Amino acid sequence: AGGRHLESVLVAPGVKGKKVLAFKRDGLKKNETVTGLIHDIVASSSARSAFHVLDLAKVVDLYAGWRRALPGVRPFYVVKCNPDTALLGALAALGAGFDCASRAEIEAVLALGVPPAAIVYANPCKPGAHVAFAAEAGVNVTTYDSEEEVAKVKRCHPSCELLLRIKAPDCGGVKVDLGLKYGANPDEVLPLLRAARRAGLGVAGVSFHVGSGASRAAVYRGAIEAARAAFDAAAGLGMPPMRVLDIGGGFVAGAAFGDAAAVINRALGRYFGDLLPTVEVIGEPGRYFAETAFTLAARVIGKRRRGDVREYWIDDGVYGSLNCILLDSYVPRPRPLAGARPGEETHASTVFGPTCDSIDTVVTGYQLPEMSVDDWLVFDDMGAYTTAAGSSFNGFATSAINTYLAYSS
Ligand code: PLP
Repeated sequence: AGGRHLESVLVAPGVKGKKVLAFKRDGLKKNETVTGLIHDIVASSSARSAFHVLDLAKVVDLYAGWRRALPGVRPFYVVKCNPDTALLGALAALGAGFDCASRAEIEAVLALGVPPAAIVYANPCKPGAHVAFAAEAGVNVTTYDSEEEVAKVKRCHPSCELLLRIKAPDCGGVKVDLGLKYGANPDEVLPLLRAARRAGLGVAGVSFHVGSGASRAAVYRGAIEAARAAFDAAAGLGMPPMRVLDIGGGFVAGAAFGDAAAVINRALGRYFGDLLPTVEVIGEPGRYFAETAFTLAARVIGKRRRGDVREYWIDDGVYGSLNCILLDSYVPRPRPLAGARPGEETHASTVFGPTCDSIDTVVTGYQLPEMSVDDWLVFDDMGAYTTAAGSSFNGFATSAINTYLAYSS
């Protein structure tokens, strides 16, 4: 997978020097799969409890796929989606910028040697102290969608430039509708532009987010059209020409990404064709890069049989990285690491997480072959909005879940 790029990723800060038990540059068998690597980790007994595997080759492939499909759009990876330092380091080495929403996220990215100019502080409503930190750190672009925020930025970081976050007109078919919380309505655009001008803050451009996990590519078209209307509104006020269009996130790897890219490229040509030579287009993908790159292996730590039903406890759950079941509509489809033997009987099974709370249930009525304590279950596509939002409830710390690095080509 993109040999030269993989080389630079492997020596990137955040990747280099990490514990890479599953990844042996010379020892890795050709065509090794992530599942094979999980077998190796388990067999070497270096993992006694749940762990993730980050497939760096997949990240390299996804980056190449982004560049191919959206050559005019620089990705600014959204740290909140998964702040794993190896993922951040890999993306930095590949040339991504970063979307940070807080002081700690800015610090994590700067610690990798990323220049502050490659960071957008993309949180429309920020604590003043964090804005003051951005000023010290030299992070000079932030989003806003309220007049109060203009006053705050003026107070805490008077040389900061703004991106006006507008509401995408159509958020249908998304997993998480961010328009419920953020984005200026069309009638708020002019007052917000005027407020920035009164405060003497530059408005560098416009951002939007169609919602996370967008299943309908068409949502991007209307949002790009609305962004152009905001550009024109600023020009109508005689403000300096805007030069940044931030098309946000929402992307899902796979066929849906190709569809979204086609709609975006068409809409950019139609609505921004005359401005493109002077307008930098950026995106804020999170799920696209993180979701499929991480695989979770969790260990069966307990078992009970109730009639025909099998009940299992594993050592990760909805208070840990599997919080995505509750918070991100993740549909778990665990598969036994041992694989299915031909003709093997399966049973309706419940899988619980480790905490003493009954909401900590991963699947019910799910067909699994007979499992034993110390067997492993594998969950695919576990990179987006997983470890990032896990807790230490009941003493089971999500931060204690190890990530092993791998490449699978
Ligand atoms: N940009 C902003 C401002 C966000 O709030 C989010 C997610 O919440 C993203 C980008 C990333 O979205 P996604 O993971 O759907 O690409």
